[in-house]
Amino acid sequence: MKAAYYIGNKEFSLREVDPVTPGSGEVRVKIAYCGICGTDLHVYLGHMDARVGNNRVIGHEMSGTIESIGEGVENLEIGDPVVIRPLAPCGKCPACERGHSHICQNLKFLGLDSDGAFQENWTIPAYTVHKLPVGISLQHAALIEPLAVACHDVTRSRLQPGEDVLVIGGGPIGMLVAMVARKQGGNVVISEVSEHRLATAEKMGFSTLNPLKVNVAEEIYKATGNKGADVVFEVSGSQPGVDTMTEACATRARIVMVAIHATKPQVDLFKFFWREIEMLGVRVYEPQDFEKAIEMIAAGAIDCETMITDIQELPDIQNAFAALSGNPQAMKSLIRCS
Ligand SMILES: [Zn+2]
Ligand SMILES: [Zn+2]
Repeated sequence: MKAAYYIGNKEFSLREVDPVTPGSGEVRVKIAYCGICGTDLHVYLGHMDARVGNNRVIGHEMSGTIESIGEGVENLEIGDPVVIRPLAPCGKCPACERGHSHICQNLKFLGLDSDGAFQENWTIPAYTVHKLPVGISLQHAALIEPLAVACHDVTRSRLQPGEDVLVIGGGPIGMLVAMVARKQGGNVVISEVSEHRLATAEKMGFSTLNPLKVNVAEEIYKATGNKGADVVFEVSGSQPGVDTMTEACATRARIVMVAIHATKPQVDLFKFFWREIEMLGVRVYEPQDFEKAIEMIAAGAIDCETMITDIQELPDIQNAFAALSGNPQAMKSLIRCS
């Protein structure tokens, strides 16, 4: 079978390797599609070599079918359509013991700390598997992992129907957060600097603001009767985004930090005291976030056709990464793995 190894310096090496026989408690999945995550792009650009090394199959936003089942695995059959929740918690640390194994203190991420899904077959622990409803599009199902991120973010925000929501940053995750928040009854506005992404957001029916053209906080106050946004998602990873997140807030607003900032941003703590704002950290997802994401994709609640902007074959993975890097017209690129 074919597997694409990241070998450093924006390069992949396509190799012919033997599929791994699943051991006890493991299954082998035939990968249908695997999306390129922002994290994968960071790997490709060489930002994560210290963690990932120069000989690693990356990729985790996958869909596929069960192909082989190891000993002691129950409730799965060959041919089942599935996605993988790519987390391997230690099960022993204080975070795991308190039921927060998704943010285990020794968490291993499949597709970064061990080999991932940009290959024809992937052997993984059976506990990571979520079964999909029969008949679901495996192409759309490749969006379940990033959608689970969005579901987790919105759950953490405690969004109530009718609340005003500002999403700062309209990339793939920002867009999915906006879709989940709207589905949950939020009045969503997306702030984004790329005209192309603004057009995509508008096509999906969202109100938008371009911070290069208007003062986002002022516009939010105007639109909410001088109240401000009840929930703000910071998905831009930029200092101007962090400035806007506190400026556009209502009293007792919740700010959800979704973006991973490359440097420590300056946060206006004065606003936190003055308006009794809460800030919430969010990281990956819990099993129930995956189940919710699966339900939404199966019900057609997500505009997958607009989200998926490119599909390439596994041998063309190099081109797919090059085309995605720094391209604001791209949303989600998928690799067809088998
Ligand atoms: Zn991802
Ligand atoms: Zn742990």
